[in-house]
Amino acid sequence: MIIENKKVVSLTYELRVNDIQGEIVEKVDASDPLVFLFGAGNMLPDFEKNLEGLKSGDEFKFGLTSKQAYGDYVADYVMDLPVDIFNEKGEDNSSLLKIGNVIPMRDENNQVFNGKVLEVTESFVKLDFNHPMAGENLFFIGKICDIRTATEKELEHGHIHQDSCGGGCCH
Ligand SMILES: [Zn+2]
Repeated sequence: MIIENKKVVSLTYELRVNDIQGEIVEKVDASDPLVFLFGAGNMLPDFEKNLEGLKSGDEFKFGLTSKQAYGDYVADYVMDLPVDIFNEKGEDNSSLLKIGNVIPMRDENNQVFNGKVLEVTESFVKLDFNHPMAGENLFFIGKICDIRTATEKELEHGHIHQDSCGGGCCH
């Protein structure tokens, strides 16, 4: 079986910044592999392009430019929001408003954006809504653990219905 549309893929990987020498920012190992429905728009399109046609047990390494990954870092995505909006519910949000915390925020269309707290003052909170990897070139090194055919339900829903890859995965 090879990786193609309508297959559920399990894989392990290391994500590094820039190239094979770069700093490791994420590591997914065989105890908790990444499992996803291929070709359903759940992953970066160029990430999937590099995996298409691989078999179980195959290893991979490839780079994605920031353009193929999460785009440029946009200074305008850093915003000062009034501190009041975090206190509206009368809850104590002091633990929420900590430098480095990532806070899910909804816009008027109810879409969720994650904002990382950069600064907190008495009047405003500075949040960075850029993707954590915006502006970075990515490098992936990994191994295909398992490939299976997606179920009808999974195809209907556009996502997988289990979070482990079962017995035969990379062990
Ligand atoms: Zn579902």
